Amino acid sequence: MSDLSYNVGMDSDSSDESGGDRSRLKQTFTGWFENSRSTIFFGGAGVSVASGIPDFRSNHGIYAADESAETMLSIDYMLREPARFWPFYRRIFMAPNNGPNAVHIALAQMEQAGSLSAVITQNIDGLHQQAGSRKVLELHGTGQSFSCLACLALYTFAEVLRMAEVPRCPACGGRLRPDIVLYGEGLDENVVDESLRLIRYADLILVAGTSLVVYPAAGFLSAKRADAKLVIMNRQSTAYDRTADLCLAGDLVETFAWLGLSANG
Ligand SMILES: [Zn+2]
Repeated sequence: MSDLSYNVGMDSDSSDESGGDRSRLKQTFTGWFENSRSTIFFGGAGVSVASGIPDFRSNHGIYAADESAETMLSIDYMLREPARFWPFYRRIFMAPNNGPNAVHIALAQMEQAGSLSAVITQNIDGLHQQAGSRKVLELHGTGQSFSCLACLALYTFAEVLRMAEVPRCPACGGRLRPDIVLYGEGLDENVVDESLRLIRYADLILVAGTSLVVYPAAGFLSAKRADAKLVIMNRQSTAYDRTADLCLAGDLVETFAWLGLSANG
């Protein structure tokens, strides 16, 4: 764990003497943020939990007893078992959600104000774009569009929502797929290269809502410059906490508000 480590959720329980520590941490962060020429946000499933989207990796209850996420969200399974893949996919990734939360909105406002260079996300829910973020690198693709495996026609989320449970291409009858990166598939090299370029250039990297165990997150952080600051905001500790300059545990929406990054908590 880093020297600078703080649980935002404990704020109200803290004694008076830690009040100085709290304001010192905030001051330190604000200094990094204001002096950074390039700040990058790297986010995972924890960013969308407040939007009502469960973290499918940690939510074991959603899988059939004998199947893992790695199996059910693999390219093989989608091709071999479409009648089982699609109901599962729809339940996990096409259920209604609450839209962008305070963190998505704050990030979009930071970009607009010129204080955030890019969002790199492991999420496929499109909520950063919905909040107004423009530079969004989607490492695992997008669940907002679907392609026909036969004729490559593209369909929107809303269109596929209205199709049969196991959807077929209205144009050619071919099978469809979500434009996400499934297990067993490689990442888009352009997205990876651009993400690495941004991380190498960044003065400040905010990592949030990810345990950093999912490929390629781990390798990404080793691309950061030695003098760049790394801030990790996650409910649980991560393998990278000891390399971080600041670790903030607790609720992400609260953490953003506490740091002064979002207007409301
Ligand atoms: Zn087609």
